[in-house]
Amino acid sequence: MPARILDGKTLAAQVRARVKAEVAALARLGVRPGLAVILAGEDPASRVYVRNKTRACEETGVHSQQIDYPASVTQEELIRRISELNADRAVHGILVQLPLPKGIDAEAVQRSVSPEKDADGFHPANLGALLAGRPRIVPGTPLGVMRLIAEAGISLAGKRAVVIGRSTIVGKPLALLLLQKDATVSICHSKTKDLDSICREADILVAAVGKPKLVTAGMVKPGACVIDVGINRLADGKLAGDVDFDAVKNLAGWITPVPGGVGPMTIAMLLENCVHAATAQSSS
Ligand code: NDP
Repeated sequence: MPARILDGKTLAAQVRARVKAEVAALARLGVRPGLAVILAGEDPASRVYVRNKTRACEETGVHSQQIDYPASVTQEELIRRISELNADRAVHGILVQLPLPKGIDAEAVQRSVSPEKDADGFHPANLGALLAGRPRIVPGTPLGVMRLIAEAGISLAGKRAVVIGRSTIVGKPLALLLLQKDATVSICHSKTKDLDSICREADILVAAVGKPKLVTAGMVKPGACVIDVGINRLADGKLAGDVDFDAVKNLAGWITPVPGGVGPMTIAMLLENCVHAATAQSSS
């Protein structure tokens, strides 16, 4: 039986509708959630991502402001602007679009965002809270993956979960979230030996690498839930994930498409983070 599709586009639309209702409720209290997006340099993919985020803000009533800098911007300038945004009561969420231009220490810039306004959940204080098992603001992509798994009605307790990729923005926080739901979690990376056989044990297999067709049918346990975080631009201009979708869909129980799987959920979770931040800041 072919896998059921985990439709991130539809689920993200439902989340955005809920966010819109929360924004309307906040408006009755005189609060309008505001997101500031810092975009430095000319990276075309970053511009597309920021445009999509801005559009989602407009649709839900979150006020967004985009602050553009040339690639020549200095770290000090970025940090100075962020400290102004930290003090601005109309701004509840701050997002620094990655990658930053060469020579800028992205971690230092991210650390300068107030943890309460850290819409991406990348600040060490928020990552530390997740590690300690008391999550506050959680990065959007892992959070979106967890929502997709919940949507499939999969209970994680006691299940084997394998996450391929150990970045701070996807793989590691996702592994912690899966662990918190009592899954038995393995994290794989470029030095992992015998990746195929580790993946074949997974009830939940997540690929967050950035290599098309890395996950083949031979790596998937029949009936597994396969989540594809990867976004790869192919030579023909099409987008593909890390999973060989056509081969794996005949074997998996659940699978996310690319596009239309994790990507829309990342943006929806960003909006949710922003509205929750506005709620918390307006009541403090
Ligand atoms: P990174 O490049 O930071 O991390 C990639 C990870 O993959 C690393 O841990 C690396 O291992 C591992 N890796 C590389 N090659 C292999 C291999 N052959 N076998 C096993 N592991 C390997 O990427 P990100 O985490 O930032 O992003 C991953 C993918 O997800 C990208 O395609 C990105 O575009 C996409 N993405 C999608 C989002 C969405 O909304 N859908 C949001 C964010 C990212 P090592 O640590 O050893 O180098």
